[in-house]
Amino acid sequence: SKPLVAIVGRPNVGKSTLFNKLAGVRLSIVEDTPGVTRDRIYADCEWRDRRFALVDTGGIEPYSQDIILSQMRRQAELAIEKADVIVLVTDLKSGVVATDAEVAVLLQKSGKPLLLCVNKCDSIGAPPAEFYEFYNLGLGDPIPVSAAHGHGTGDLLDAVYDLL
Ligand code: GDP
Ligand code: MG
Repeated sequence: SKPLVAIVGRPNVGKSTLFNKLAGVRLSIVEDTPGVTRDRIYADCEWRDRRFALVDTGGIEPYSQDIILSQMRRQAELAIEKADVIVLVTDLKSGVVATDAEVAVLLQKSGKPLLLCVNKCDSIGAPPAEFYEFYNLGLGDPIPVSAAHGHGTGDLLDAVYDLL
């Protein structure tokens, strides 16, 4: 069967927006309310000569007591269990937050091929200084993307392709 690429990260970083952009369809729910994606949503994707399934997940909140968030975490962990490639999405606007570091550790432990995506890099040209903070997550070169505008999604797909 097709390899599975999972989009994970904390609520509101733009996972569903990215999913929709990559899938080229509006299937996922995008809301300002954090953690609105409660179900895993799949799309069949094709990039260059490879096909893969893409899955959108809710956010990961490792230390949250909240039942909805812990349910979403379980969904994300399920996706992690099944994924061949994981894309950790972070947010330039909020910068690196503690949860990103926690999730990065969780994902590194999964041993799966992993990409670090910095979303909301909306302006064209050299990334702003804050972008370089994301190197501190220790996941290699962050990939700047604007899911809203579509900038960088081709580079992200190329990086996914290389790991398939
Ligand atoms: P999720 O909770 O991680 O799935 O995040 P969503 O995709 O629901 O997006 C959360 C918010 O971030 C929404 O208000 C989106 O419009 C906004 N957003 C998503 N991608 C971008 C982007 O590339 N740039 C900007 N400026 N906002 C974005
Ligand atoms: Mg979502």
